[in-house]
Parts: sequence; structure tokens; C-alpha cells
Amino acid sequence: MLSTMQNMPLTVGSVLRHASTVHGGRETITAVTPGSTRRTSYAELGERAARLANALRGFGVTGDQRVATFQWSNQEHLDGYAAIPSMGAVLHTLNLRLPPHQLSYIANHAEDGVLIVDDTLVPLLARALPDMTTVHTVLVTGGGDLARLEGHGKQVLRYDEVLAAQSPVFDWPEVDENSAAAMCYTSGTTGNPKGVVYSHRSMWLHSQAACTTNALGVGYDDTILAIVPMFHANAWGLPYAAMMAGAQLLLPGPFLQAAPLVAMIESERPTMSGAVPTIWNDILNHVRANPGHDLSSLKFVACGGSAVPRSLMQAFDELGVRIVQAWGMTETSPLASVALPPATATPEEAMQLRGTQGRVVAGVEARIVDDEGTPLPHDGKSVGELEVRGPWVTASYYGDEDPEKFHEGWLRTGDVGLIDPGQFITLTDRAKDVIKSGGEWISSVELENELIGHPDVMTAAVIAVPDEKWQERPLAAVVRRPGSTVTPAELNEFLSDKVAKWWLPERWSFIDEVPLTGTGKYDKKVLRKRYSDGELS
Ligand code: ADP
Repeated sequence: MLSTMQNMPLTVGSVLRHASTVHGGRETITAVTPGSTRRTSYAELGERAARLANALRGFGVTGDQRVATFQWSNQEHLDGYAAIPSMGAVLHTLNLRLPPHQLSYIANHAEDGVLIVDDTLVPLLARALPDMTTVHTVLVTGGGDLARLEGHGKQVLRYDEVLAAQSPVFDWPEVDENSAAAMCYTSGTTGNPKGVVYSHRSMWLHSQAACTTNALGVGYDDTILAIVPMFHANAWGLPYAAMMAGAQLLLPGPFLQAAPLVAMIESERPTMSGAVPTIWNDILNHVRANPGHDLSSLKFVACGGSAVPRSLMQAFDELGVRIVQAWGMTETSPLASVALPPATATPEEAMQLRGTQGRVVAGVEARIVDDEGTPLPHDGKSVGELEVRGPWVTASYYGDEDPEKFHEGWLRTGDVGLIDPGQFITLTDRAKDVIKSGGEWISSVELENELIGHPDVMTAAVIAVPDEKWQERPLAAVVRRPGSTVTPAELNEFLSDKVAKWWLPERWSFIDEVPLTGTGKYDKKVLRKRYSDGELS
């Protein structure tokens, strides 16, 4: 029998409607310079979104056409987040850290028509725009120079002028909740980047999950500093979760260095934030070098994108800031699991559980499988590839068959780890980074996490290198603190009571910085190449 419930679609438009009416007085605060901000209410967001939607219709955007953004986290980007899906079009956030040839590949693959760019990013876009064959109109925010984008046969206009000429009322259409709302391309470790297409329903459910206390617990009284950029995995869904909850959004624009972030935390006093561990590490180094800062307004800091070292969490505990590890991928919207120990855990157990990738939030299911794809027990010992499924987990890539990534309706994550009887997931590596020494696995992630706990180590990346006797052995590439002369012997001594003896690296290299991918993760491919080229010893 069918239910008696109303069948109201779960759409981004309904989130915008809710934010602009029920929470109309709540604000988005955008950094304009490192020291100044501007504020826009959600009621005003509703009007700005209507103006943008009218303008986009005027440029011929109908149906599910793609509108690209090439922007930092700011009010104008939020306008696009609100307007583009709500009008039935598809928001395509371009990752501005990708090289020009990948950007044009992605824009062409998605068939982006209109593109919105921040004026500070015009020089970057200018290198990719000539090859973006489907883009016909570029809207430039701010007052910067447009000349560099002209001459490629595209219409180039000022965003503010275009919006000012539009009506603040738009006849928002009824949108099917299963239709596309937004898309993101993953950086693609091999081959071309791959597109993940989110539906209205997946976005809605993901946002609501983020608001539950078993996940991020976003609520009305929060002010969220979204450091994770809006061009990467939808800023972990924080903007839509904030709009749903009526939380205020603090958007740092391009000012993502430790000093302006710390200043923003002190002046705006956010209660929540989200960023990758490298950013929190930078912030920690900054406040240690410049004592006297107060970060204690932050009650909940979501951290993920790569493993979160326990030493980082402990250091922030001492500053009155609770870091909570979360795990996810572009393919999982991205929030999938959160490491929240039960209140009954002892302090030691709690710390151990906070160091895991956590438990899946309701809606997502997880399992680990062996090399043949057979599910393994969640016994805290069996190690295999993590597979996940759920209503905000992708079932395919856009226009790009990749059957290898899917298995019996589950997404193969490429992450390797175990699940304990309490259902907490511990990742030991990415499949491609695993170190197999004499047939046994060494976790590069665990070695990195322990190394970073040494006071003389800024960052460390561990890779597998070929070894005649053991097939593979770890090589630790370490960035020392300025002035430090710490030696491999001292670092091995430090590690010796933390990891198994046979894990201790024989090969060490001191480097100036760890190369990062477009999404800010250690680029171990580059390190492996440097090793084979003889640059690392
Ligand atoms: P991309 O795949 O484009 O590099 P994603 O943000 O989608 O960017 O990366 C997802 C991957 O990041 C995961 O598969 C996992 O390897 C890693 N990751 C995310 N969160 C964590 C975490 N808390 N601990 C360890 N690894 C993580």
C-alpha cells in the first residue's frame, strides 16, 4: 500500500526558500581584505539568487545546462550555489588549483555554457579559457580588469552590473528531486578527471545528515568558518547545511593562510569550522610562534581529506578547540563517516577512536572486502578495501564508464583499512600507496602520523620504494622545522616505541616541502618519480 504522505521533492530550491524566509535575518560574512568583511543576510541571498537566475535565463540557460564557477569561497559563489540548482540548471564548481589543460578538459566535458569567475582569478582563467569551447559567456565578479578574457569570442561582462539590471523576483520552477543539481570532478590520479553529478535529493539528504549530532551537528546558533573551499567537494556541504539550519557562514575568500584565518576566528568568533589537516597544522605553527591568540570560540572543527594525526588533535585540545575527524570523498558528497567516541569511552579509548575515520552516518553503509571482492569481518583485524553505498554516494561517473570503481552496487573507495566490532573504520592507506614489505603491510599513514608528532618535524610523507630483499620498503621524506638538524637515527629512535620495529624506515630524505595534488593531498606520485629519478635517496 502507498503511504498517505505528501510527495514534496527534496530540492536545493526548498533549502534556499527555507533559508531566505525562516532564517532570513541570518548572515553570510565574506572576507573582503584580510582585515575587513561584508555581510549579507539569507533574505538578501534569496533576492541575489533571483537576480542571478534571471540573468542566466537571459543568457539562454535553460533545462539542465551547466553553469561553471571559478571562484573562492565568497558571497558571489554562494549566490551561484543558491541560484543555479534552484533554477533547474547544474552548478559546476571548477577547482582552481587544477592545471589549465585539465580545467579546459573538464569544462568541455561538462559542456559548461556560462562561467562565473572572481576578478582575482582572471589571470588563472585566461590560460584555460581559449580552450573552453562550449563556454560562451563569462561573468566577472568585483571590479578588476576584464581585458585578459576578451578576444576569445566569448561575451565578458561584469557580474555586479548584470545582477543590478535584473528583477529580485524569479519564478522558481518545480524541479525533480532526482535530477542533477551540481557536479564536481575528482582530481583523477590516473587518466582524465572524472565527473560526479549530485542530485537535488542527494544534496538535501547530505545536508540534513550534516545537521545531525552524530555527524557535524550544524545548528541555528552556529557560525561556520568554511575553510575547505567551495570549489572542492562543495565545501563538504557546509553551505547548504548552514542554509538549512540557519547557521551563519563565514567565507574567507582567498585568505587561507594561517595569519588571516586566525585573525578572522578572533574577530568573528565562529563556533564551527572545516578544513584539511595541513591547514590546522599551519594554524598551530602560527599560534605557537605568536602566542596569545584565542581560538576557543571553535567548539567543533571537522577535519579530513587525509588522516588527522592524533598529535594535532591533542595540541588543539590544549587550545580549547575540539578537532573531529571525518572521512569522505568527492564521490560521497563528501561526508560519509565521523569519528565521535561515545561518552562512555575512557579518555584513552576516546583518543584512540578520535584517531580513526569514524562510523558511517545514517544513510551510508560501509564494508571491507579482500582482493577477490569477498566481504571481510568487522573484527578490527581483517584488512581490505573499503566499499561504501548510500543515497549520496555516486553510482557512476558522468559520461565515463569506469566499472573498476563499482562492485555489486558499492563504490570502491581505493582506501584500505579495517572496521572494528564497534563499526569504527580505520584506514591504513590508499590502495596505491600501500607498502608491502616481505608480504606484510606497512601503513604509510601511520608512519606519517607518528612522525608529525616529533617536535622537529613540520610534515612527512612516506612512500614505498623497491627493495631487493623485501620487495618494498618505506622511504620517509621529511620537512624539518627551520633550523632543526634532527637526524634519521633520532627520528627512528622516536618512532621505535610507536610502531613495529620492522616498519622503521632505512631510507630518509629531508626535503623543503611535500608536493601536493590539486586537492591538497600529498602527491606521492611525484615523490615516487623523484625517487626513481635519483633525487631522493
Ligand atoms: P580527490 O579524490 O579528488 O583527491 P577527495 O577529497 O575526493 O579528493 O579525496 C578523497 C580521499 O581522501 C579518500 O578516498 C581518502 O583517501 C582521503 N581521505 C579523506 N578523508 C580522510 C580521512 N579522514 N583519513 C584518511 N584519508 C582521508
